[in-house]
Amino acid sequence: MDFSFTEEQQLIVDGFADVMNSRSWEKYFHECDETSTYPLEWVKALCDVGFDRILLPEEYDGLGLDWVTLAAVYEVLGRLGGPTYILYQLPGLETVVREGTDEQREKIFSYLGTGEQVLNYAMTEPSAGSSWNDMRTTYTRRDGKVYLNGHKTFQTSGMRVPYLVVMARNADDMDVYTEWLVDMSKPGIAKEPLHKLGLRMDSCAEVYFDDVELEESDLFGSEGNGFMRGVADFDLERFLVALTNYGQAYCAFEDAAKYANQRVQGGQAIARRQLIQLKFADMQVRLTNMRNMLFEIAWKHDVGKLGRGDCSMAKYYCSHAAFEVVDDALQILAGVGITGDHRVQRFFRDLRVDRISGGTDEMMILTAGRAALKNYR
Ligand SMILES: Cc1cc2nc3c(=O)[nH]c(=O)nc-3n(C[C@H](O)[C@H](O)[C@H](O)COP(=O)(O)OP(=O)(O)OC[C@H]3O[C@@H](n4cnc5c(N)ncnc54)[C@H](O)[C@@H]3O)c2cc1C
Repeated sequence: MDFSFTEEQQLIVDGFADVMNSRSWEKYFHECDETSTYPLEWVKALCDVGFDRILLPEEYDGLGLDWVTLAAVYEVLGRLGGPTYILYQLPGLETVVREGTDEQREKIFSYLGTGEQVLNYAMTEPSAGSSWNDMRTTYTRRDGKVYLNGHKTFQTSGMRVPYLVVMARNADDMDVYTEWLVDMSKPGIAKEPLHKLGLRMDSCAEVYFDDVELEESDLFGSEGNGFMRGVADFDLERFLVALTNYGQAYCAFEDAAKYANQRVQGGQAIARRQLIQLKFADMQVRLTNMRNMLFEIAWKHDVGKLGRGDCSMAKYYCSHAAFEVVDDALQILAGVGITGDHRVQRFFRDLRVDRISGGTDEMMILTAGRAALKNYR
């Protein structure tokens, strides 16, 4: 198997590496993390070299590239310390191509190149986390309008996005789950920020809808297809989380390796101690496994062979493997990593959140396990 990049892929990767090396971003990331601020300057710089167009088809002014290229870009950004979790909406714009109306596409794509957050998908409610059976947000039709009522929780980017795709049940037939593209400036919408352990450069919010008036033209996708649409897009979301986890682990590994080679204790570099070498061997095994798994999944997607459980397996495996790598890196950095502002601390917090957001470990296991068994029925 050939793991090398094509000339075009290498050029794209180099372009993103240039952005990362164009200034010392770490101070900016640290400030954004400390103050829970969206790193617009960084995302804008990435969009200037086409990040938000990577997967977008050419007819929408996109680059029409594949998951292998996307994985290569995530790898270089993560390795160089970029908080790639903040970028998850941008490769996902493909959903708007598939489900949106011309008018909706125009609204959303007008943000291309700006680096701004544009939309997110609101499913989770206080009564509906891993299971959507007890979703209580409803829509009802009255006098030619549609009215939305309910409460969504844990909404990523919820404080900042101008649009939210909200899943709701038809008040007259609760078996019908439909999504609506909601302009967040409408009357009847209230938001409250949620403080969280990690992933702090992105907001997280409670969002309340009190008789929010919508038009029929705000319907996103087709009526009754909300549930299926949500499930269909899980794969990309989970793949992006796994890529982010791998990138953070790669960065932490390199920080720890440089430190271990220069930190002298008892007359020699700690890198010469076998207990430290064991950690590097374990870290290297995990990084290699993550990379092989992710690039294989990307390739399977690109040739139409993606399996039902592949992305869930990757999210489950990478969030754990990356957490172990980052934990080892922290152990090697010791006091320097635990006190002060070292970025590995941030990765440690971020990674713990990723075992829950985007679907919990347990849900990943159930999906991956069922898919593995299906082959032997
Ligand atoms: C930072 C963050 C960002 C998020 N962003 C979004 C977003 O943008 N949009 C959105 O809609 N949602 C979002 N979520 C919600 C996220 O998808 C849910 O938190 C997640 O699905 C779990 O729901 P819950 O927290 O209510 O836990 P619960 O579903 O109540 O689960 C509690 C525990 O029970 C386990 N469990 C539940 N059911 C089963 C089962 N059948 N078998 C075995 N174990 C089970 C879970 O795995 C978990 O360990 C976000 C969450 C977080 C933390």
